[in-house]
Amino acid sequence: MILVVASGNGEAGMVPAMEILRHGGSALDAVEAGIRVIESDPAESSVGLGGLPNVVGEVELDASIMDGRTLAAGSVGALAGFEHPISIARRVMELSPHAFLVGDGAARFAAETGFSPCMLLTARSRRVWQQGLPESLSAQGRRGLRRRGELLPMVRQAVERISQHGTVDFIARDANGNLACGVSTSGWPWKYPGRLGDSPVIGAGNYVDNRYGAAACTGYGELVIRCSTAHSVVLYMRMGKSIRAACRSAIHDLAPLLATHGGAVNIVAVDRENRPFGVTSSAKGGYYWVVSEGSATPEKRALEVVVP
Ligand code: ASP
Repeated sequence: MILVVASGNGEAGMVPAMEILRHGGSALDAVEAGIRVIESDPAESSVGLGGLPNVVGEVELDASIMDGRTLAAGSVGALAGFEHPISIARRVMELSPHAFLVGDGAARFAAETGFSPCMLLTARSRRVWQQGLPESLSAQGRRGLRRRGELLPMVRQAVERISQHGTVDFIARDANGNLACGVSTSGWPWKYPGRLGDSPVIGAGNYVDNRYGAAACTGYGELVIRCSTAHSVVLYMRMGKSIRAACRSAIHDLAPLLATHGGAVNIVAVDRENRPFGVTSSAKGGYYWVVSEGSATPEKRALEVVVP
């Protein structure tokens, strides 16, 4: 049965993704199409166009896509100047002999494979970035900051105040029973240039295997990388745990890191029986989206709160 599951900020991409599946398209096509909608939305400040920039005012994007049928995967990280990192990640998977390209190399690959560059920093995201910098530094402007030798103290100071970051996750199953999973983000605002989050790291923010299921994360990427959270969820399902138990176990694995560093992690997942599930370590809760063959509109579901 066809199915699309997305993180809380994915609503606008649900119907386009589902339409693709209804017309016999692949899970990969559906995931890519759903995420592209969110990447193009300038009001979404944690993904694609309008995403908040790093500490020197440059928007650097991370994305990955994975095919549950073959375990093929493609990722781009710290990619500047292109609106649709999810599509570039897919090209990495399909056209290159590699799985992961970052920075200038990823931008070069994007241009070489036909993507047009674009300006990702909007007036709004520039304003938010400037407001988050210490006053003495925001006066230096982007060029001045880029030339500065020392960025670390600024990054430490700025990221302490972060309240806004996010990622869009999409999981789809097509009429042939194949699963795909994709994630896309601008990462932490005011991050150190070149910082990669969990989203482009296969096994951390994204993992799918047709035989067992799929999982994707949002939240504190540095912690998700250290626990290989998405892979853990799929591995727990492979070991026979229910999807709920698998997601809960993955959050419990993160417990010591969450206790030390704070922050939160959310997971959306689908099992081999096509059951969706979502979980969060945040007491504030949250939600995700599900649409399946029988439903006319996407359904908003609460993430189960597991405070480890
Ligand atoms: N996981 C993303 C990152 O660490 C941010 C988020 O989803 O909130 O870059």
